This record gives sequence, C-alpha cells and structure tokens, in this order.
Amino acid sequence: MPELPEVETVRSGLQQHVSGRTFACVQLLHPRVARRHLAGPDDLCAALKGREVGDIRRRGKYLWLPVGDDALIAHLGMSGQLVVGDPERPLSPHVRARFAFADGGPDLRFVDQRTFGHLSFSAGGAELPSAIAHIAPDPLEPVFDEARFAARLRARRTGIKRALLDQSLISGIGNIYADESLWRARLHWARGTDALRKSDVTRLIGAVREVFASAINAGGTSFDSLYVHVNGDSGYFDRSLAVYGRPGEPCPRCGARIIREKFMNRSSYSCPKCQPRPRRGRW
Ligand SMILES: [Zn+2]
Repeated sequence: MPELPEVETVRSGLQQHVSGRTFACVQLLHPRVARRHLAGPDDLCAALKGREVGDIRRRGKYLWLPVGDDALIAHLGMSGQLVVGDPERPLSPHVRARFAFADGGPDLRFVDQRTFGHLSFSAGGAELPSAIAHIAPDPLEPVFDEARFAARLRARRTGIKRALLDQSLISGIGNIYADESLWRARLHWARGTDALRKSDVTRLIGAVREVFASAINAGGTSFDSLYVHVNGDSGYFDRSLAVYGRPGEPCPRCGARIIREKFMNRSSYSCPKCQPRPRRGRW
C-alpha cells in the first residue's frame, strides 16, 4: 500500500506532466472508480471537462488536483497508479479512468488492478477538500505542529506504532515507514505513548522526516510491481530498508538479528538490542 513517499513521488510527477494543462475529455471505464462521487460518473466527467489543473497537492496518502476553486481527489488505495503516456497507446484492462488534454499531448490514466482506489470531485476543495479535512497534517507539511502532536500523542495511552498509523493523529505513515522510523529513533513499537518523553517524540518526528526524505529521494518503495511513478518506473527505497521485511538479517547499526513480531494482523520488524521491548508495553 502506498505511503507518503510513494504518493509524493506521484504528486511531483503529476506536477511536472499534468499541472497547467486543461482536461478535454474524461472517461470513467469502471463503475467503482467514481463510487465516492455521489452525483455519479457523468457528473464527475462534466465537472472536470474544460478545467485547467493547478498545482498538485497532497496530505498524507491523499492527492488532489485543484481545478479553479474545486478539486479532483485521487486515492490510490492498495494498487492504484496514475500514469502519463502517449494517448495512442493501447488501453490495458485495468485502466479505470482516462483523462485526455486539450493540447492533445500525453494522457493521464488511472490504473487500478484491485479497484480499492477511487476518484471524486470536491466543490470548493482546491485548498483542502472537505473529504480530507479529518486527516491530520503530515510531518512534511508546514502546518504540522510538533508540540500539538506530542500533547495529543501522550494523551492517547496506546502503543507508539498504533498511534503512528492513526491518520487522525499524524498522516502518511503506514507499516513500512513506521517500522523504519521507530528503528531510527531506537523506540520499540509497543512503547506506551503516555510514557514517552518530549525528547523521544522529537527524535521520532526527526526520524520520520529523515526516512521520508530518503524514500522520496529514492522514488519510494516498490514492494510489488503495482506501485509506479507516472512514467511507469519503480522506486528503489526497498534496498535501503533497515528492518522492514528483513527478519534474521543483521541490524545495520549493531549487528543483532532483526526480529519479526505479530502486530494488528500484520508484522512489526525491530532490532531486539537497539529497540528493547518495554516491560509494560501497549498494543
Ligand atoms: Zn540494532
């Protein structure tokens, strides 16, 4: 599932290839793609036709394409891709929507094998679509308030990893980057948020930002063939992962063997030496 660095990589690709261009024709090729747009697919197409795309925006894992005061929201779900290319290329069976532009140049296609992704229109949503307003700012946004985050985090009385995955507290972090950030900050994933010191939170936020910056630099993490850039390339941050998906391998910092533990139907990877398990953890 794409996390912030993957979505940011797509955002910057769209900024380069789509921003400033005008939608000519919008085709929705699968009923599920517009399921969150309650007025229906025809209404969505009509709302976008002839509109010029502004600067592409993102919060956490959500992307939106401003058109005037309004916006087109694109949620990639588990496997969604936004790909730009020659408008004459054949339509693959997983293309759910196709956007042609008034300049006749490369088109934009929303490709989604598993159909968890979706598109919707937000009237007046250019700055921040109302459907996204409940999502907390992500740590790369200028509006992210570290003191406020720290206060809300310590009031939660939950495990630190569970809190990092809570998009109403901080957005953009999923399983991969949570494990990597906790490793960098030397914090076990089950540490209770109420037992964290202010310096722990500062170190953790610093670690999240560092991991995000490195991952964006590498074009994100491509764990399967489904996550791609707008030009179809893959990211290569998976080569730089310290703990995620590496059970039994040596910790890059101390050499101890990385362990995998069950966590919320998924896994958590950590170093038993750098990230000692708390005596009384919280899940
Ligand atoms: Zn270690």
